[in-house]
Parts: sequence; structure tokens; C-alpha cells
Amino acid sequence: MRRALFLDRDGVINIDHGYVGRVEDFEFVEGILAFVKKAQERGYLPIIVTNQSGIGRGYYSSEDFEAVTRYMLQKMREQGIEIEREQVFHCPHAPEEACGCRKPMPGMFEAAKKRFDIDMENSIMIGDKPSDIEAAKRAGVGHTVLIEKNRPIRREEIDGL
Ligand SMILES: [Mg+2]
Ligand SMILES: [Zn+2]
Repeated sequence: MRRALFLDRDGVINIDHGYVGRVEDFEFVEGILAFVKKAQERGYLPIIVTNQSGIGRGYYSSEDFEAVTRYMLQKMREQGIEIEREQVFHCPHAPEEACGCRKPMPGMFEAAKKRFDIDMENSIMIGDKPSDIEAAKRAGVGHTVLIEKNRPIRREEIDGL
């Protein structure tokens, strides 16, 4: 089993401007790439779990989301992070669809656990909303950290990293 570093996207990896659906609106939070790289070197598999109701609400398309994802992953790889598309889990639904994947529901975490055989108890979730933390806890993630959105993460705030 592998331990994971679960990361919310908007507000944690990139600046949350509200419904970031285009590459030109995607701006990395300072220091996040170095942080993820360090966590990976320490044995954590990076997994991104992101609510993308902008798709369900019709603000941007799945293709737009995929273009942003390709850009994000490319920039991560350029910094030495090994990450593939399948490490990004997204919920495309609007809230009224009442799906099982939109955080605070745990569906994306459970899918990741199944796909990558993750040791949830020894994994970490970093989010900027209480719903990120709630979803992770429901899925049995042992360590959760609520950060202020759009703010660089300091490694010393994360237990065990
Ligand atoms: Mg967020
Ligand atoms: Zn969903």
C-alpha cells in the first residue's frame, strides 16, 4: 500500500479566482510545486481531488477542464514531479445533482484508494474548505490540514512531512 498526499486544486495548487476553467486563469500558488516534489521524495503519491461544478453549471466544458489539467501536469513534470492524468480526480457535477463524488462526499477519495491501493490512515489531505476536510475524514484519511486559500503552504505545518 502507498500513502498519498491528497490535494484540493483551487486555492491550494492554484489561485482560486472562482471557476478557473481556462489555462490563462491558472496561476500556481507560490511554492506549491516544490512542496509536492518534496512530499513525493518522502514517499507520498500526489493525488488531486477537485470539485469542478463549473462544468455542471455550464461555465466551462470538460474539454476546457482537460486543457487546464494538461497544463497543470506539464508544469508539475517540468519541476520533477512524476504525475499522470489518472492521479487527478474531479467531480463535474452541480450541487443539485447530489452525486457521491462532490466533496464533502468521499467518492473521489474512495476511487483513488481503489485505483492506487492507498494506505488512507497514513495519508494526508490539504484543503482550503471545511468540505475538503470532511470528505477526507469520511474516507478515512488520517491527517487533514485546512489551510487559508491561495496561501503558500509551509512544510512545518504538515505533520510528518
Ligand atoms: Mg479549494
Ligand atoms: Zn460528482
